[in-house]
Amino acid sequence: MILTAACGAVGDLSEVPSKKPEKPASTSASACDVAGDDFAGDVELARCLTESFWAKEFQAAGGTYQPVQDFIAYDAKSGPVCGGEKALPENAFYCPDGHFIAYDATWLRAMYDQMGDGAVYVVIPHEFGHAVQAQLENDFSYNVEQELQADCYAGATLGGLINADLIQAEEGDDAELLTNLEAAGDPTDAWWEPDAHGTPEKRQEAFATGFDKGVASC
Ligand SMILES: [Zn+2]
Repeated sequence: MILTAACGAVGDLSEVPSKKPEKPASTSASACDVAGDDFAGDVELARCLTESFWAKEFQAAGGTYQPVQDFIAYDAKSGPVCGGEKALPENAFYCPDGHFIAYDATWLRAMYDQMGDGAVYVVIPHEFGHAVQAQLENDFSYNVEQELQADCYAGATLGGLINADLIQAEEGDDAELLTNLEAAGDPTDAWWEPDAHGTPEKRQEAFATGFDKGVASC
């Protein structure tokens, strides 16, 4: 667990849901016709399931979810520009200027290989959490509160998908998700700094709140 060491202690896991997302129970139960059986498939499936989750949430609230305009895999320094800023290596981010998500595929793949598919199912829903914020707020900008809310939204997304049997939970690997939470990035800040994304404890708490209580609790 190289990233755990690099990011410091994961902290108290007692508050953490004892579930983790695993393979989809059945793709036929969702609108997502993607096989999540390898890295590329899991990334696409995480995107599709997350957007279908939010489409339903918005619909239930009388609104319409706007899917991201683009979903871009990049390699290290070849990433797309966002608001005049170049994409950073080893990162994933939502760009409000263009309403797209981009991720360093080499970096995400390394986490996937080290920690399992839970890596993808935390990082991607977190970034879609920002895409949702940008639709709900007039003057979206990144700050710690937004990061914690995005963690909460990610937890709510996973909890909702598990409850709908669109992904299966597996016991005994809580730390995987939370380690990944610490590693989830954004372009505008140093993600390893506690004051950029919140402390690991705060992030775990936000994630667990969303997971247990849903979007309204975020
Ligand atoms: Zn973020």
